[in-house]
Amino acid sequence: MQQACPRDDFPVIWGLFIDFFAGLSLSFAMHEDIERVLIAEEVIEKRLDVIARRVHDDFASEESLQVVAILKGALVFMADLLRRVPLRLEIECLNVASYHGGTESSGQVDFLDQKLPDVKGRCVLLIDDILDTGRTLAAVSEKLRELGAREVKTCVLLTKDKERAAEVEADYSAFEIADEFVVGYGLDYDGKYRNLPYVGVLSPSVIQS
Ligand code: 5GP
Ligand code: MG
Repeated sequence: MQQACPRDDFPVIWGLFIDFFAGLSLSFAMHEDIERVLIAEEVIEKRLDVIARRVHDDFASEESLQVVAILKGALVFMADLLRRVPLRLEIECLNVASYHGGTESSGQVDFLDQKLPDVKGRCVLLIDDILDTGRTLAAVSEKLRELGAREVKTCVLLTKDKERAAEVEADYSAFEIADEFVVGYGLDYDGKYRNLPYVGVLSPSVIQS
């Protein structure tokens, strides 16, 4: 078995020093790309408490609740919200794509999974990161109803203030924002920035480059 090899000739203090500065430059790298923080982490956390209480109260009489989250954007929101909801939840995820890497919706909603969740007769809480044109929530809600869901309620972290291409509104929405492209707290640009703990606006130089 190979063992980590301590370097006797290299003082431990120098190793710690280098690690510290390497860590600092890494952690700043992502935040440097953000022009503006739109919704801070503490604000999101407080609001999630409110939304979670509403979900709990609305579904408290259900024996169990089926949650369907849309990947990958809903990952962070779903994890933080659902841990605040003390109901018997069953969680399924759906892989859906509508952006294909840029900053504008492609207008087409693709279901990427081979097998869709079994929601027959179930009351479903559908979770997504953001309601933008509305095409994704409309298409997925319709699909869940086709699959036999008894009821579909929709829940998003963000709702963009704009006219929708599809007729849909969220039953639960944590924040309303202006019509601009945002990242963080699950939302990506070209696959990155989902792990930002807040919602922010990217510097234009990052999008152009
Ligand atoms: P819709 O179908 O409502 O137009 O868009 C829904 C999907 O588009 C969201 O699930 C999200 O993945 C993506 N989207 C919409 N607006 C934004 C945005 O401002 N930033 C990011 N990163 N994704 C967005
Ligand atoms: Mg999405």
